[in-house]
Amino acid sequence: MEDIGHGSCGTVTKCSYKSFTMAVKTMPRTTNSYEMSRILMDLDVICISFDCPYIVRCYGYFITTYDVRVCMECMATCLDRLLDRIKKPFPERIIGKLSISIIKALHYLKTKHQIMHRDVKPSNILLDWSGVIKLCDFGIAGRLIESRAHSKTAGCPLYMGPERLDPNNDDSYDIRSDVWSLGLTLVELATGRYPFGGSEFEMMSKIIHDEPPRLDPTIFSAEFCDIVTCCLQRDPTKRMNYDQLLQHPFILKHEGVDTDVEEWFADVMCDSE
Ligand code: ADP
Ligand code: MG
Repeated sequence: MEDIGHGSCGTVTKCSYKSFTMAVKTMPRTTNSYEMSRILMDLDVICISFDCPYIVRCYGYFITTYDVRVCMECMATCLDRLLDRIKKPFPERIIGKLSISIIKALHYLKTKHQIMHRDVKPSNILLDWSGVIKLCDFGIAGRLIESRAHSKTAGCPLYMGPERLDPNNDDSYDIRSDVWSLGLTLVELATGRYPFGGSEFEMMSKIIHDEPPRLDPTIFSAEFCDIVTCCLQRDPTKRMNYDQLLQHPFILKHEGVDTDVEEWFADVMCDSE
């Protein structure tokens, strides 16, 4: 067993048995039986999502007196670690390919299982050695935090849409909040850094009050700048939905080109050794 990483709601360990390796995420369990039954429902959704090639495969889960352990496919790395390691932004052609995977994964969760992700961010986007990009940690991670904090703030606040952070807004957030998180993630990968600076309080205040981040049109293609603008709309009703995003020129353009993510990944890993 080897620790892969620690996150906001648990620890991920790499476990091997003979030639089989998997990643096991261990999270403290909640004592609230209603919450626990919702978590189990989410886990069942995760386990039947193997028909989507853009979602990390889950093999099963088990529950002990103290924690919940989710066994999943072991990937090579997540995008925030990769960004830290290579210390430069991702090329637009790679972001094009990963946008396709992430939008398809979110669209699948919505249409097939009627659920939203709630924690879209670079550390929940994983890459395997053959360059396949997959989304992980939907629903369940948010639920466990939510039940512990007794609040509706499931997920990482830095990637939440302004409507979820605003204390004056009582509306329960919806699927469009994931689209905001996706837009912020794309900006971070394209520029190499999270777009808001300062303390966590200052960053949240900027998310609520400042103009949303935009990409520099002198550096990035018009389609890329536009898809970011379509995701990062302060008013959630103005954000594009998944059907529209899948038809966006940025996505159509990158679906039509043959980009070797595997080769790029091998090269950047080699260069950053
Ligand atoms: P967070 O997503 O908030 O960073 P997590 O507990 O979900 O926290 O994950 C911690 C780290 O473990 C992540 O940064 C990621 O690099 C790694 N990780 C999570 N799931 C897997 C997996 N299936 N395969 C490989 N690494 C993983
Ligand atoms: Mg995670």
